[in-house]
Amino acid sequence: IAAPPLCNPTGGTHCPYCAMQCAMRLVAKDGRLEVTPRDFPTSQGGLCRKGWTAADLFTADRPLTPLLRDRRDAPLRPATWEEALDHVVRGIGAAQAAGGADAVGVFGGGALTNEKAYALGKFARVGLGTCNIDYNGRFCMASAAAAGNRAFGLDRGLPFPLQDIPEAEAILIAGGNPAETLPVLLQYLEAQRQRGGQLIVADPRRTATAAMATLHLQLTPGSDAALANGLLHIAVRDRLLDEDFIAARTTGFPTARRAAAAWWPDRVERATGVPERQLVQAAHLLGEAATAMILTGRGPEQQRHGVANALGYINLALALGKAGRQACGWGTLTGQGNGQGGREHGQKADQLPGYRNLADPAHRAAVAAIWGVDPATLPGPGPSACELLDRCGAPDGIRALLVQGCNLLVAAPNTNRVRERLAALDMLVVADPFLSETAALADVVLPVAHWAEEAGTITNLEGRVLLRDRLVAPPPGVLTDLELLQEIAERLGRGKFFSADARDVFEELRRASAGGIADYAGITWERIVAEQGVFWPCPTPGHPGTPRPFQERFATPDGRARFHAVEQPLSAEPPDQEYPLLLTTGRVLAQYNSGTQTRRVQALLAADPEAFVEIHGETARGLGIAEGNMVRLVTRRGAAALRARLVRTIRLDTVFVPFHWGGLGNANLLTNAVLDPVSRIPEFKTCAVRVECMPPA
Ligand code: SF4
Repeated sequence: IAAPPLCNPTGGTHCPYCAMQCAMRLVAKDGRLEVTPRDFPTSQGGLCRKGWTAADLFTADRPLTPLLRDRRDAPLRPATWEEALDHVVRGIGAAQAAGGADAVGVFGGGALTNEKAYALGKFARVGLGTCNIDYNGRFCMASAAAAGNRAFGLDRGLPFPLQDIPEAEAILIAGGNPAETLPVLLQYLEAQRQRGGQLIVADPRRTATAAMATLHLQLTPGSDAALANGLLHIAVRDRLLDEDFIAARTTGFPTARRAAAAWWPDRVERATGVPERQLVQAAHLLGEAATAMILTGRGPEQQRHGVANALGYINLALALGKAGRQACGWGTLTGQGNGQGGREHGQKADQLPGYRNLADPAHRAAVAAIWGVDPATLPGPGPSACELLDRCGAPDGIRALLVQGCNLLVAAPNTNRVRERLAALDMLVVADPFLSETAALADVVLPVAHWAEEAGTITNLEGRVLLRDRLVAPPPGVLTDLELLQEIAERLGRGKFFSADARDVFEELRRASAGGIADYAGITWERIVAEQGVFWPCPTPGHPGTPRPFQERFATPDGRARFHAVEQPLSAEPPDQEYPLLLTTGRVLAQYNSGTQTRRVQALLAADPEAFVEIHGETARGLGIAEGNMVRLVTRRGAAALRARLVRTIRLDTVFVPFHWGGLGNANLLTNAVLDPVSRIPEFKTCAVRVECMPPA
């Protein structure tokens, strides 16, 4: 595919990948497009390897017409848009005629722009009338979001701008590896270190981020609540608490203290594997610092008790008085590009735009009025992502599924189960720029524009709303996601409710979010450009935006943050004789999420061409495994074939597999879809596994 001509040479965009959303523009050079960084307060001219090579996405192989399967066992063949869309609408009609409105499901993604996330939620509820919609943010940010809402009354990934990070005297990063997942964020950690700041990293692996730290707590996967409680226990014992802050700005401390009382240091050492002296050192580094931050990543969050884990770390920040003040706070390191905005505008199973509650009559009425529909016609809350997938093809379940912006066969846990459920559908429709593993399984593939081929807004990890300009035209034969939804809605007789114009959709989103928690009413595209992004909440055009929402009060009704009693539950799947090791999953620098984009960029593929398993050299020797051997990892759900990388940087009882690949190296063939009771996030981060040698090929 030839590089497209630039249609907006002076326009600016942001990276197609992670939540740093580094600022860039495109330049034409020697018949190619190249990325060049542009000044912006967050990325400050920085780009990582993924950002620098992003323009290669324009020339990557992709479908340029819809693809259709005449029968389940027939190959995909090119089709016209008329034919494909008519097929989709017939399939929706047949499913709903047989099983009612809820027989059609919608699955969205956390990389979709705010406008797409908004339109997709509205499409499910107004276009299809189904309760069955959720998105892949359920796999990613759901625990942190639920914990933030419970403790602070507001889910804003970082409740402070990145520029505050260097001012923190101490930072604890629990289960996050920004050196590989958010590489441009490292400049802030580097600046913090240069000012004499201390960095503590809690991670079962000595990652590139842990290698930068003053102190590395190499905990057992799944033991975060014990670690957080243990640090709180030491803070109480050693009088590190900020009693004035606790009294003035929080409620519920006695319950959290009681829960932590049972976690005396030697018990925590046994539960976490972290030596007591390191626990004491960490508690004192945080407690004695004048300013400190605690940042959690997917490590503690993607667990069966991810919400409790995040609340444990929040308890610690509150007890030490390190929240709601300058250069202090608990935050979560958002992963997906629009992981924040993607969860605010209504593509979640239980949510309406503005972070409103789908079960609340007042919220339903407010949004229904904007949409011009009777609130009684809006479906109620539906199942979360994994539960939605379980309904696919089930009796009285979902018969047709539209997937937009997610590669389920790589991203969702327990791939064998997901494949079985998708295969049981009457119709699987996948809208994607590329022929992902999930698209290759579909009955209909709808090729859509991506990234700088369309305009749209994104909300970065700090809650700053950004604008991605349209810089090139999509190839002929490709629609934008908004055009696609509008076309389907038109054929369903609901076209008047939908616009294909991103700016129109944003204007409607502003109105629909007004008065909600995530209030975008005062944010305009002009302001975003002029002010280099605007932080929500921003209720009026004259409002400056809210970079630090908790400085005066928290967003709870009484303005106080809430402590929660946190227990350390048993892991869903502890190791045993049959499966003696712990598996944890994560990311590598050169790939992004399910790899649908980055595995199509040659330079990134060359850097990390295949999945692998990282295993401690001593553990490997005991199993007769040498560097580079192919090994078989087996869990109760499936098996994966992976090349062994022997390291000394991982715990002896743990193996690590990155999750960016499909096929036999797919980490999610192994993972456990057991869910957190509150956030419904699956337990990607720990399960029991066996490693077997494989005979040479
Ligand atoms: Fe920046 Fe993330 Fe893109 Fe790298 S992948 S350039 S850190 S936005």
